[in-house]
Amino acid sequence: MVDDSIWKVCVANKHDRSDSHFTLARSVETDMTKHYWMQEEHHAFREAVARLFREEFEPNRQRYTEAGVVDREFWSKAAEIGVLGASVPETHGGLGLSRHFDVVTYLQQALVGDTGWGFAVHNIATHYVAAYGTEFQKARWLPQLANGDLIAAIAMSEPAAGSDLKGVKTRAVADGETWVINGTKTFITNGGSADLLLLVAKTDPAKGSRGVSLMMVETCDLEGYQVGRKLDKLGMRRNDTAELFFEDVRIPASSLLGGEVGQGFYQLMGQLPWERLIIGYTALGSAQCALELTLDYVKQRKAFGQRIFDFQNTRFKLAEANTKIELLSAFLDQCLEELESGQLTAERAAMAKWWSTEAQCDIIDECLQLHGGYGYMSEYRISELYADARVQKIYGGTNEIMKEVIARSMDDPKKS
Ligand SMILES: Cc1cc2nc3c(=O)[nH]c(=O)nc-3n(C[C@H](O)[C@H](O)[C@H](O)COP(=O)(O)OP(=O)(O)OC[C@H]3O[C@@H](n4cnc5c(N)ncnc54)[C@H](O)[C@@H]3O)c2cc1C
Repeated sequence: MVDDSIWKVCVANKHDRSDSHFTLARSVETDMTKHYWMQEEHHAFREAVARLFREEFEPNRQRYTEAGVVDREFWSKAAEIGVLGASVPETHGGLGLSRHFDVVTYLQQALVGDTGWGFAVHNIATHYVAAYGTEFQKARWLPQLANGDLIAAIAMSEPAAGSDLKGVKTRAVADGETWVINGTKTFITNGGSADLLLLVAKTDPAKGSRGVSLMMVETCDLEGYQVGRKLDKLGMRRNDTAELFFEDVRIPASSLLGGEVGQGFYQLMGQLPWERLIIGYTALGSAQCALELTLDYVKQRKAFGQRIFDFQNTRFKLAEANTKIELLSAFLDQCLEELESGQLTAERAAMAKWWSTEAQCDIIDECLQLHGGYGYMSEYRISELYADARVQKIYGGTNEIMKEVIARSMDDPKKS
């Protein structure tokens, strides 16, 4: 059982901060001191999440990697300390905290060298329900998403439609009190484990972006629904990425997210900045993890009678990585504040996504290089970070699409 008492006390006392309490919380802190928004309750939460990874994840890391998925029990343990429900409203079974607490989890997960556990898509899907769900939908799904009874996935991409979401072919047709779904999805993270899907479907193909809707699909005992093969990937080997098939699948009318047809694109545009910021923070944590691993390595390894650390090239590479991490951290924190105050624009979220993931891949590549041949060996964690990083430039909107979003905002007649 994970002891979550420290951070719960801190959260309860968040308006009653004493210096001694603050010092105590900071004494367990190492990697997150530079985030100016981190207060004692975030540090305490971070310690609880760190303990979760240390006690429940690390001993099982190899097994999860081989299984290609994290145990259901790990999800339950994460739920127990409030990870799954941190930013879910209290009225719906969560802790009602800001997304800063979710960010603490993302950073902590990345700092232990994991980006595989599929918490991100679960958390993103949860925010869709919280933002757009009807009262019935929130009451039905949020408590179970927060307590880990339901694992969520996001089913947008299709074999012939990834970047170009308007090309989605999956159809949802109204028939009495049901929607009938037909189509195929691919690359779906948590696809094999998901109990609840956030599905992108066309409700009226003639209406372009206004003809797209989001459906919440409960997968248990769902006739006509089939999970295809678990896709074999270069990295991210601790989550299941799957194909999903829908053949005349009937779901209740109440599955339409928000209850209003044709709102899918508007809903997607509202939540994509959060998804892109999550990718950014994951990039930051992974780059920090790589730097820590590399510092340890180059201070021990010797060549030509001196530490690898002492070569000027090494010192410059590490200095560059450290600087990039600082800059990235500051920009992401600024974007997070904008998100929380409802001001984060699509283009700034896109900047965060593309630049952070490029920085992550560059830093990890340099760090691997400094490990020499050992960096290419699976037993050295830097090699896993390298393989995991690559997809960050692809999902959540490819980096090319991010640059399109940014460039489009620079050609807005209203701004000239
Ligand atoms: C490990 C993994 C997990 C994923 N998880 C999910 C998930 O949970 N849910 C989900 O729905 N999807 C998921 N995806 C899918 C992912 O979002 C898509 O792969 C991504 O959006 C790109 O789509 P695509 O693969 O069809 O590439 P394409 O759209 O075919 O793009 C191919 C190339 O063309 C470029 N390109 C396309 N259009 C343009 C343009 N207009 N201008 C310039 N260049 C362009 C792209 O940048 C890319 O380099 C996942 C993918 C992976 C690999």
